[in-house]
Amino acid sequence: MRGSEPLVRCDNCGRNVPRNKAVEDERVIRYGTDMNNKDIKFMTRRKVHYCISSGKHKGVFQRKAEQAARAASRFHQ
Ligand SMILES: [Zn+2]
Repeated sequence: MRGSEPLVRCDNCGRNVPRNKAVEDERVIRYGTDMNNKDIKFMTRRKVHYCISSGKHKGVFQRKAEQAARAASRFHQ
């Protein structure tokens, strides 16, 4: 069906890509609150989407493979 797949915006180049073709990645953003007296650090996770070419360019595929390999090796220990 036409237009059934929602479009997401590539976070790298701004191109609109169908969600089933987009590469999903998770970016961890850390905040340090130096202005306050306590050294509280906030961590937030943000979902980002890349088109295929941007995903390749950013090395998302490679990183995901490395993460999977690391998780697998940890599982074996
Ligand atoms: Zn892109």
